[in-house]
Amino acid sequence: MTANTQHHPTFTGNKALQIEEALSFEIGGLDRTGVDFPPAEDRADRLGGLGRDSDIGLPGLSEPETMRHFVRLSQKNYAIDMGPFPLGSCTMKHNPRLNEKIARLPGFADLHPLAPQSCVQGALELIDTLADWLKQLTGMPAVAMSPKAGAHGELCGMMAIKAAIEARGEGAKRTRVLAPESAHGTNPATAVQCGFTVEAIPADATGRVDLAALKEKLGDDVAAIMVTNPNTCGLFERDIRAIADAVHDAGGYFYCDGANFNAIAGKVKPGDLGVDAMHINLHKTFSTPHGGGGPGAGPTVLAASLAEFAPVPFVERRDGDYHLVETPGAKSFGRLTAFHGQMGMFTRALAYMMSHGIDGVRQVAEDAVLNANYVLARLKVEMTPAFDGYCMHEALFDDRFLKDTGVEIAKAMIDEGYHPMTMYFPLVVHGAMLIEPTESESKRELDLFCGALLSLAKRAKAGATEAFKAAPVYAPRRRLDETAAARKPVLRWTPA
Ligand SMILES: *Cc1c(COP(=O)(O)O)cnc(C)c1O
Repeated sequence: MTANTQHHPTFTGNKALQIEEALSFEIGGLDRTGVDFPPAEDRADRLGGLGRDSDIGLPGLSEPETMRHFVRLSQKNYAIDMGPFPLGSCTMKHNPRLNEKIARLPGFADLHPLAPQSCVQGALELIDTLADWLKQLTGMPAVAMSPKAGAHGELCGMMAIKAAIEARGEGAKRTRVLAPESAHGTNPATAVQCGFTVEAIPADATGRVDLAALKEKLGDDVAAIMVTNPNTCGLFERDIRAIADAVHDAGGYFYCDGANFNAIAGKVKPGDLGVDAMHINLHKTFSTPHGGGGPGAGPTVLAASLAEFAPVPFVERRDGDYHLVETPGAKSFGRLTAFHGQMGMFTRALAYMMSHGIDGVRQVAEDAVLNANYVLARLKVEMTPAFDGYCMHEALFDDRFLKDTGVEIAKAMIDEGYHPMTMYFPLVVHGAMLIEPTESESKRELDLFCGALLSLAKRAKAGATEAFKAAPVYAPRRRLDETAAARKPVLRWTPA
């Protein structure tokens, strides 16, 4: 690798079309503004002495300067619309433009959460229709639509479980929650947030829940288990029915983390597996954007065992009209959020479902699994899969193939034009590299991606250690100290 480790400084600091972008405070000035009004005529001051007597302190920029600043900044961000985004567990799939068009229809886009219900019957019908799809796909009788993210959906499910346990008079007794070592960090965090203590269930040699170890930990003090299926190693939990039976026999509930539902939607109904509650990340399985200017959506489906503990608000159809139920029933755990604020996510997810149909949703799951297995098969020539056999929707590698090289290949992927895969998660695998291509990627894209990774693996094994330590060399910024940025954020600009 040669690359621009040699310096050819430019006058501007720019490199070709890569513009060196300063802060708006640095390029703007208090003396400038985007508008140009003539001076006000002499008029009597009507502010009653409340007029500003110092500068407002905002950086003034002209309109074109403002546009350029923000457009350039936006281009420094990698996005699913720019290239493959192989982050395992995150399911970064294409957001179909049809969904965007539907979400922008003024009848959905311009709603106010306090609009009279008689004026928003169409929106309520859309929420109810989406809820029906989720109930049908999961085989569960109820769904809370208000959670704003996967983690929030977990909170909703665990609050329902807590309410159910308290209704049985066992609130003081059932204080433990069990979660596999491979669990996403939000699982234990949610359980702790609900006042439970968390204990890890070890994995067996095949990367799945060790059933015998789980059974040993069960007892009448266990409130719930939280298990992800397919799990975070990209594997289907084959003992899932036995796991559900064991926890139910012990009087506990089965919370399923449904973040990986995209691998089985249309093929498996979690309700048939004994699940009591499960969140669904609409931004993973149903292609809504991750982030992007508004609340997300992580609806939580509930089995009959938990349905009456569901939170408000929810939509109900009565006498041909749709009603937003705002008063909690006797057993409901109460209000989770003020509003259903995620109309944009609901419209996009339903557009995705309806444009695919149930057969299309099933094919999405099949294609996602096929793509992951293609990546696994191609990469295992140079890289070491963490487990034997086929995977589900994501391919997991460990770092045995890099042994004694001192190399970590994620940063070098940036130079190849890719966002790195998920690194060091799940924790049960040493030096984990988790790749999730999703159904979005074509064979051509996958071949290019695999070609890049195979080349990096070969270069690492051939001893190009220094080049890897320097990477990325083509990125506008190289090795950011993200820990310092998180721990000691500099949030205020001060003039030089
Ligand atoms: C993404 C994810 C979550 C959390 O979902 P958010 O929508 O990011 O809050 C939980 N568990 C697993 C396995 C996930 O992949």
